[in-house]
Amino acid sequence: MAQASDDYEYDPDDGIDPIPHAHARVGDKVTLENGRIRFTLLCDDGQDEEVEALAKRLNKRLAKFGQSLDIISKQVSEVESYWKPGKMDRVIKLTLETPPMSGKKAKLIGSFERAEDGEQVYRYAFDGHTEADLEPFLGRWSDCDHCQKSRQRNATFLCETEEGERVLIGRQCSMDYLGLDPSDILARHAVFYEFLNERESDAEYFGPRAPRMMDMEYLVMTAYRVAKRYGGYSKDIKGDFLDDIDALYGARDYGRSTFYKDIRRWYREAPAPEPLDKLALADYVFNQRGNFWADVQIALEMRSVRLKRRNIIIAGIGLFVGRRETKPKEEKAVQKRMAEGVKDQRVDFVGTIVRTTPYETDFGPKTVIVILTDKGETCVHFSAKEHNPEAGKRYAIRATITKQDDEKQQTVLARAVYTETTQGELFATA
Ligand SMILES: [Zn+2]
Repeated sequence: MAQASDDYEYDPDDGIDPIPHAHARVGDKVTLENGRIRFTLLCDDGQDEEVEALAKRLNKRLAKFGQSLDIISKQVSEVESYWKPGKMDRVIKLTLETPPMSGKKAKLIGSFERAEDGEQVYRYAFDGHTEADLEPFLGRWSDCDHCQKSRQRNATFLCETEEGERVLIGRQCSMDYLGLDPSDILARHAVFYEFLNERESDAEYFGPRAPRMMDMEYLVMTAYRVAKRYGGYSKDIKGDFLDDIDALYGARDYGRSTFYKDIRRWYREAPAPEPLDKLALADYVFNQRGNFWADVQIALEMRSVRLKRRNIIIAGIGLFVGRRETKPKEEKAVQKRMAEGVKDQRVDFVGTIVRTTPYETDFGPKTVIVILTDKGETCVHFSAKEHNPEAGKRYAIRATITKQDDEKQQTVLARAVYTETTQGELFATA
């Protein structure tokens, strides 16, 4: 288990703050006078029921120790969807109170636990503490300062006394010393882990204890950044794509490589992509058919999603970006009329004939000549002449404006005189 011996230190030069998704749904935590901790938790419709069920389960364990986890208020509100303006999401704000993290005589700083391989040591820093608090005790982590016996313990707690002294307490001695049964401590611990996605240390950011819920907006934005790098998503690049996602979510190299760090550097140095067009994303996703897209549609309605939805969401965003990236090549430029010139004004400009279409009128045959000026403006000339310019060729044109058509975004011309330019041949074959 690599998590146990993590030597990562958050490097501000990484440029990526890996925090946002971990606590996106949790409001400020406040430690009350009696040591209990109060915090708010935002739930999507239905998730509140899961939290309530979990609280019930944990309370069975806590009851044995005269402790409880209370949901002290529940507020239902409607907030506008991230992706669909005007659509309202039902959001439930739960205010919870958990038992204090400190025992009767001492405060818990962290714990050590022998890993499955019998050699390595898991280190958990409890609320507000870090790996640095545990480090000085690593060399003698299995000692107990309470009974002074050193033996092959599997777990110890690091505590801070009222006098500020830090001591190691064996799991078996914890009841005696802290007035808490180990399972009580673990139950409290479970509260934090389950509800807050609380990481005991950065080491557990990924792996079995990775956060179970992911903030949807953050996930989409991250997938968008990655999709912009690769110009979309396909099965061929799935591995690279997911590596980048992991890197942006703060995956660590454990000092053995600079793999993730290098990816983060790439993003830090690359220019930021244009902002995600959320409306276009919603429009695209909700117009797709099939099971895959149905799943993406459901996820997009959520404000937070389970970890296991991650890959379909990433693929969905990637496919959306891929389609957007290739679209401009297929599409014609947006048509616009001449920016300057008023009715009856004689104008000179250079343009290329887009097409010539003959048609019959009561007054004889005419030809519609569509011209794209060098400035990218569209002009239309209704010619009654027998000889007209050729499509694809470039001409110097003198004509009179008869209408600036704002609705069709084109300028209507009359009495046009076409002089083929010297570069005409080159342009036509380019
Ligand atoms: Zn002991």
